[in-house]
Amino acid sequence: MGLPSTILGTVAATSSTVAFVPQIAKIWKTGGKDVSYFMLSLYLAGVTLWLSYGLVIGATALSLANAASIVCAGTCLVLKLMKEKPCRAERKRLRIAIDMDETIADSLTEHIRRYNAEFAEKVDVDQLHGKHLEELVPLDRSDAVRRIIRDESFFDCLAVVEDAQQVIRELACEHEVFIVSAAMEIPESFAAKHRWLQRHFPFIPMGNVVFCGDKGIIDADYLIDDEVRHFHSFRGTGILFSAPHNLLETACERIASWQHIRRKFVGLRSS
Ligand SMILES: [Mg+2]
Repeated sequence: MGLPSTILGTVAATSSTVAFVPQIAKIWKTGGKDVSYFMLSLYLAGVTLWLSYGLVIGATALSLANAASIVCAGTCLVLKLMKEKPCRAERKRLRIAIDMDETIADSLTEHIRRYNAEFAEKVDVDQLHGKHLEELVPLDRSDAVRRIIRDESFFDCLAVVEDAQQVIRELACEHEVFIVSAAMEIPESFAAKHRWLQRHFPFIPMGNVVFCGDKGIIDADYLIDDEVRHFHSFRGTGILFSAPHNLLETACERIASWQHIRRKFVGLRSS
């Protein structure tokens, strides 16, 4: 092989090898989503065969060029594998939005208790099958029913719905959990709801608490809520948390307890 051929081979080898440098830099920065495993594998197989051919015929330039290409393509493949692994894990981490009233905070028990105390009534939760309390009481008491939940002390008294703390703690270890309340419906409740969350759910960062109006603004995979109306503009999947007032709803997935939510979501990430 003469000098011109050697120069030609060296220039060709340098060009095809250097061509990989920008690709390696791009994969390092972006994770190589736009590079195909099939293409890289096929290319590696090709240059390996060229290296073998170069060694057989004693072509030094050809062999060196393809050895360098194997190193570059192999680097691309390893970087792509390294960078994409965390991305795949991250995609499986769900974002779950969780309502407050009658989903994690038992507002109904306190609402009925205060109504019965004020009007000397004996309303029982079983009477609320498919109805809110304000739909059950006489029309002239509707304003009083709404006033009860606007009282600043109301939210401070609420118990936590059974198993909600433990299951949400487990969910928060595996998924992104946000507490989402349509608190604009009762702005007087802001401070009390904030205090209640800090007392009962201190493991939820305040950055993961959203007080809003329309829950359609929430960008989450799931919304767990006792009110079907919040699912209408929500773009993810609504899960109806069973409450007496929603027992006649059939349009969406219903879940009866926090134990059922644990079975649905805990461990989902690794499945
Ligand atoms: Mg609610």
